[in-house]
Amino acid sequence: MSKTVCDHTSVGIIVTREEALRSQILLIKSTKPPYEWTLPSGHADLVKLNPTEKEFKSAARRELKEKTGLRAIQLYMIHQERTVRFCGRVNDNYHVWRIYASVYLGKIDRNKEKAQDIAWFTRAELEEHVWFTARYQEGEVSEEEWLENPGLEPIWCNELDILKLFDDAEKIFPLRP
Ligand SMILES: [Zn+2]
Repeated sequence: MSKTVCDHTSVGIIVTREEALRSQILLIKSTKPPYEWTLPSGHADLVKLNPTEKEFKSAARRELKEKTGLRAIQLYMIHQERTVRFCGRVNDNYHVWRIYASVYLGKIDRNKEKAQDIAWFTRAELEEHVWFTARYQEGEVSEEEWLENPGLEPIWCNELDILKLFDDAEKIFPLRP
């Protein structure tokens, strides 16, 4: 079987909701070791050199739908970046990221092959998970502790700042009085 080729495009989607007057962000728990929490994200697989904004957006929508069953509406691009990162596919070396803020329609219907769990996090909970990942990377957290209650996937703590992205998403979809 031939290995999938990296298309150098990645999309992420920040889905927020309001609960008890606080914003929450949707995260999914990875089905791959070390089973960390992550944004719905992945390769856009657009297989062309200069994809359009429309194509990036539909890739982000597809990513959310595939993993969570939710339909994303009102997508706003909040971040674009080129990161050097290896994904394990053929010809991987860099990825052009586009991250969208969005609201959703529908009910969660978890894809068991793509998500071990799906949950809503407040900003304070998100911060705790970022902190926990830093401690794990420093070797201060055991594998057992991590598996019991994992932090955030390192890319969202190191290369991309999930707290800033969450704050930006909140500015686009602020709490209504
Ligand atoms: Zn890749």
